[in-house]
Amino acid sequence: MIVSTSVPFVDLRTQYRNLKAEIDEAVGRVLDRCDYILGGAVKEFEQAFASFVGAKRAIGVGSGTDALHLILRGLDIGPGDEVITVTNTFIATVEAITLAGASPVLVDCREDDYLIDPDAVEQVVTSRTRAIIPVHLYGQPADMDAVAGIADAHDLVIIEDAAQSHGATMSDDRPCGSIGRAAGFSFYPSKNLGACGDGGMITTNDEELAERLALLRNWGSVVKYQHEVKGFNSRLDTMQAAILSVKLKHLDDFNEGRARAAGWYRERLEAVSGVILPPRAPWTGRHVYHLFVVRVPGCDQNGLIDKLKADGVQAGIHYPIPVHLQPAYADLGLTEGAFRVSEKASREIISLPMYPEITEGQVDHVVESLRRCL
Ligand SMILES: *Cc1c(COP(=O)(O)O)cnc(C)c1O
Repeated sequence: MIVSTSVPFVDLRTQYRNLKAEIDEAVGRVLDRCDYILGGAVKEFEQAFASFVGAKRAIGVGSGTDALHLILRGLDIGPGDEVITVTNTFIATVEAITLAGASPVLVDCREDDYLIDPDAVEQVVTSRTRAIIPVHLYGQPADMDAVAGIADAHDLVIIEDAAQSHGATMSDDRPCGSIGRAAGFSFYPSKNLGACGDGGMITTNDEELAERLALLRNWGSVVKYQHEVKGFNSRLDTMQAAILSVKLKHLDDFNEGRARAAGWYRERLEAVSGVILPPRAPWTGRHVYHLFVVRVPGCDQNGLIDKLKADGVQAGIHYPIPVHLQPAYADLGLTEGAFRVSEKASREIISLPMYPEITEGQVDHVVESLRRCL
């Protein structure tokens, strides 16, 4: 029998088709009202998202990268200041720091969970350190209590990179995005809550900071042609906000779909030797599985991905090159061997297809193919 099952890495088309009537209607409403820039749907979505995250305020911006960048600007963190973050992340975390003119100070991740290593953070704090950006990577919260301990001891600000953790919680139910001084979310299409284009959100409980950010994203202005500070043009698009409002109502269901798929993978892969399943940290309440990252020590990573591809399975690597080894950050002067845990992980991890609508049959197919390839 010829098996023709194909399993994409993500499946945006199925999600759109399932919500087509609602999304088309929301888009139509914006087109009717023509309030394209900072329109009614933006405010509506900001309020709904703040309430979802359990934060006082939410400020819609152009992207997740801009969210982190503007938070730093809003806190007056820039040239001469150091910001600590982890090398095992998407490069945008670090680009936000350099966009603000501050100096990124990278640390390794932990072997146990691939998340920022608080012990390493403690070691690089200097008199110039202003902030720590923990990344809730793959949909799992960073060790926020340990990070908060260091931040408190040295009077540092915590900025959460929540781009992969919409709906994730700590074991005491605190949602990602409600814990630090502020948090940056991304609505890049493939994120747990994805727009039909770029978009981002800042959440914070700090009203004063929220007001500054509302200025910064809009040319430093709230009253037209009156500019209080030098700002940027980085607003969440009204059309995207309308679409995101529709999808937010389904986010818990999406995340449940991901968790269900993670369960299917775990059941089937538990007994497969040589495959290390995604760790669950003890401080994690809800893991929202933005990615399902397994580790296959000693594997030929690209060979494995090619073999899976031949079976119709799209897999990926998140991320193949840690930030400190990217040419873009050669100026940090860090070379191979600087962060051994992240470097080793980057050579052994494989991200399996993960999206809310994935079926049990598709997971079966992925696991069968992976078994065969090993
Ligand atoms: C996606 C992502 C970002 C950037 O978000 P954009 O909306 O694409 O700018 C930042 N950090 C992490 C960890 C991400 O996954």
